[in-house]
Amino acid sequence: MTHRRAELAANLDTVRARIAAACAEAGRSPDGVRLVVVTKFFPSSDVRILADLGVTDVGENRHQEAETKVAECADLPLTWHFIGALQSNKAAAVATYAHVVESLDRRKLVTALDTGAHHRAHPLDVLLQVSLDPAGVDHRAGAEPALLAELAAAVGDARMLRLRGLMAVAPLGADPVEAFVRLAGIRADFLVDHPDATWLSAGMSADLEHAVKTGATHVRIGSAVLGSRPRVQ
Ligand SMILES: *Cc1c(COP(=O)(O)O)cnc(C)c1O
Repeated sequence: MTHRRAELAANLDTVRARIAAACAEAGRSPDGVRLVVVTKFFPSSDVRILADLGVTDVGENRHQEAETKVAECADLPLTWHFIGALQSNKAAAVATYAHVVESLDRRKLVTALDTGAHHRAHPLDVLLQVSLDPAGVDHRAGAEPALLAELAAAVGDARMLRLRGLMAVAPLGADPVEAFVRLAGIRADFLVDHPDATWLSAGMSADLEHAVKTGATHVRIGSAVLGSRPRVQ
């Protein structure tokens, strides 16, 4: 076993154990939480090892890097999640290779993604990214909760998009517990009108336990599996 493989295997074991413990504590089945390993900044050789270690879902946040890795790993049975800020001029391209786009946060992206997805055999799964920043704050990404209904309606009208649920990132420097409790409320409201949109992508390396407790169905884990990234983001 190479050193890198041993390292990734050990980290994966730890993360899987954390998810299992959080599920046990919350009285949830571990089958209800999917691990999406965020491979941004790490090479395709790592993706290959991860797939061999049983990882099924990987996440990327930049178009160029994602497109290259998807092509380099085309032989692997992976589900690729696009989780990063989407520029509208890149969205159509992303829709040609991603299986899930988690960062749909404004109206303009719906048309672009739908256009990009129209050659696909299957619809593109999308999550609406909701902002958990206090209202009025100049936030980085995510739709204001009040705009979700309108966005969901636009996705519903798009031919090649399938609305799967919501995604969120806990705000920097704020209490993730409070943020995820708020998220659970937003999601409960959303499910009333969109009962099939059951996915909830929340939780990263530092806060996955809180996310699992508040109902996450997908956790996006980078550094706890791959190690720390270069600080150039
Ligand atoms: C990078 C990233 C993650 C993973 O973060 P870690 O703290 O390394 O686990 C999760 N979600 C999004 C949107 C990201 O950009």
